[in-house]
Amino acid sequence: MRRLYAGGWIVTCDDGGTEHANGWVLVEDGLVSAVGDAEEPEADERLDLAGAVVTPGLVNTHHHLCQTLTRARAQESDLFNWLRELYPVWAGIDADAQYAAARTGLAELALSGCSTVFDHHYVFPEGRTGLVEAEVQAARELGVRIVASRGSMDLGVSDGGLPPDELVEKLDAVLADTERLVSELHEPGHGARVQIAVAPCSPFSVTRRLMEESAALARRHGLPLHTHLAETVEENAYCMELYGCTPVEYLTDVGWLGGDVWCAHCIHLSPDDVIDFGATGTGVAHCATSNLRLGAGIAPVRELVDEGVRVGLGVDGSASNERSDLLFEVKQALLVARGRGGPAAMTAREALRLGTRGGASVLGRDDVGSLEEGKCADLAVWRTDVLELGGAEDPVAGLVLSAPHRVDRLVVGGEDVVRGGALVRADEYEIARTQRAQARRFAAGP
Ligand SMILES: [Zn+2]
Repeated sequence: MRRLYAGGWIVTCDDGGTEHANGWVLVEDGLVSAVGDAEEPEADERLDLAGAVVTPGLVNTHHHLCQTLTRARAQESDLFNWLRELYPVWAGIDADAQYAAARTGLAELALSGCSTVFDHHYVFPEGRTGLVEAEVQAARELGVRIVASRGSMDLGVSDGGLPPDELVEKLDAVLADTERLVSELHEPGHGARVQIAVAPCSPFSVTRRLMEESAALARRHGLPLHTHLAETVEENAYCMELYGCTPVEYLTDVGWLGGDVWCAHCIHLSPDDVIDFGATGTGVAHCATSNLRLGAGIAPVRELVDEGVRVGLGVDGSASNERSDLLFEVKQALLVARGRGGPAAMTAREALRLGTRGGASVLGRDDVGSLEEGKCADLAVWRTDVLELGGAEDPVAGLVLSAPHRVDRLVVGGEDVVRGGALVRADEYEIARTQRAQARRFAAGP
């Protein structure tokens, strides 16, 4: 089956930033087989794009899907106080709640044009099984790709950590469960729908030994490594007190700087840290809205990009960014870069590239993030006849600057996940109802 998407503005996000103002994409067996603007190739089916913008499916590099159950809490808190309020609430998570939460966050992301989602789940209360499996099932049903993580916390408050003791696990149990999930769920290779990453939570909730053992495990299996880093000034002070060094020095110490690692936030980096990230190939998940919501600061993304650091975008969990809209995050990346560095600090196309190609690179994926021959047929189709794009002669810049938008069509591996602005395989209102029933179990109460 050869399907041709024709008559649209194709943004390939290839190395040269090629765009075809009146172009087409040919899809065959779930892969892009050609892109261009010359004479249309033969196809079994031709879909008229009617002047829509087509981008690669967006790639999310940081989320906590379970947090859709606990939005709009701790509204004026900084990170540590926000966490102290929410850890005990998250302790109620089980597989049913996780499934409902994941369906919600994944559906929101799909409707914002996102085809590949990384989720950082690190809350594993004793005796609750099937949490990672629940979110993987939700992703499979909706039709998006997921990189799920076996996160972890093993440094409780009585040992100098931030999380309550009842939420931390034993190191051996973490490693054994990670091995189990890798053997049961991880798909290696081109076009993987489900992958597993190894993701201890943060310097203030994980022991040095678990950081080291996690890296060893990941490297034995060739899996990517992820953690939170340098999110707040309080975290820097905490690291100085506990480890006598900055978060990046600590990360270097535990063998975590490298091309198989990416870190969320990375706001409080020194100029030398930025150089170290570039030299070692360490990636960054930039979570602009969450960082603003928690008043944590703004990451030096212009400097990181100029240093050649791999940078992707993340919506982050829904308790610190109540909206899982990745195209909106593309616009936020542009706005915060300009707020920090002036109007030339980031172009619309650079921001879009962070949300596509950048994200793929951060996740270690060379099969998604661009529209080129042989890549997965993950396409986001954006209508240009909508109210907010009228008068925008440059529809690509218009799309970013007037975000958010609901995607018109989202194709993942050649199959429709969203069509006509609606989920193809699920009913978003049913998802919302089911999720509210679960969220009530986490309510603070009268
Ligand atoms: Zn996070």
